[in-house]
Amino acid sequence: MLEETFLLDQLCRLQSNEVGLAVLGYPIKHSISPQLHTAALEVLALGDPAFACWNYRKIEVPPQHLSTALPRLVELGFRGLNLTIPHKVEVLPFLSCIDPQAEIMGAVNTLKWENNGWHGYNTDGFGLSLAIRNAFQKSMADFDVLVLGAGGAARAAVSQCLLEGCSRLALYNRSPARAHALSQTFLQNENHSSITVLDSLYDPFGENEQPLLVINATSLGLRTDDPAPIDLSIFAGHPHVYDMVYNPPATRLLAQAKDLECPHVNGLGMLVGQAARSLEIWTGREVSFDAMNQAALAALAD
Ligand code: NDP
Repeated sequence: MLEETFLLDQLCRLQSNEVGLAVLGYPIKHSISPQLHTAALEVLALGDPAFACWNYRKIEVPPQHLSTALPRLVELGFRGLNLTIPHKVEVLPFLSCIDPQAEIMGAVNTLKWENNGWHGYNTDGFGLSLAIRNAFQKSMADFDVLVLGAGGAARAAVSQCLLEGCSRLALYNRSPARAHALSQTFLQNENHSSITVLDSLYDPFGENEQPLLVINATSLGLRTDDPAPIDLSIFAGHPHVYDMVYNPPATRLLAQAKDLECPHVNGLGMLVGQAARSLEIWTGREVSFDAMNQAALAALAD
């Protein structure tokens, strides 16, 4: 069952012992983040009862209200926020401090209130990296990587590949200009010269010494009738496939990966990983990935 969605006007000031956490987005009704965080907070509360007073809500905030929502939420007692579409980039001018990795990515998904203002972080890349390690028992640097897409999720993937030192990285997007622009921002920021931008889909690495990892960071797959973003039979070997889509849990891309016996996994691990890292930033405690994962599976099965 989906948790209640709040509007800013409906929120009351929190009790003095309560700590408010929330995800802001527009739309936000579909988000299962409250279930993940509530499950992990319940585990934390077993060791420290103070966490029983931490609550996580989802709040619908249209883009034009973000600038007023942020100070209002502080007044009400909110101390940690997740941001999703369409706020991840638009929030940047309202931050007093930004984590260096988030700055390179040019987007934040996590805000923590400190005395002097909101501090911004991005945990998407961390979540992706953790998910890949958990699924394939390899780090991203163990792969040659082909990222499909050039939106926010692709940006997180490319940034994490560069951070972890992937030696060969290629990028393909339906609109090639966006892929070139994305690659260009990383070249400027990081002085990297290792992103190959493909203007059509082909195997960019040929015979690989390292295994190939294909990451779907496009929104293709969100609808059950979406085609796969790539035909995996173009690759000579058996690429590992990470599809960031997690709902539906099996996309056409993942079905093809299964048919071709390619190691594959959907995006749920990334969702859980980024959520766990956000909660660690807010609480300073180690967070139960398993509790979050179970809660995510239960929420999606509803
Ligand atoms: P954006 O809207 O920023 O980017 C969408 C991307 O998909 C663009 O590259 C776009 O290409 C491409 N695309 C859209 N439609 C098509 C199509 N018909 N054919 C080919 N390419 C297409 O979205 P995000 O980057 O924020 O999200 C991308 C995906 O990643 C979504 O499915 C999202 O749910 C998922 N995601 C999963 C997360 C997780 O935790 N598992 C976290 C974040 C995102 P173009 O530039 O040509 O329009």
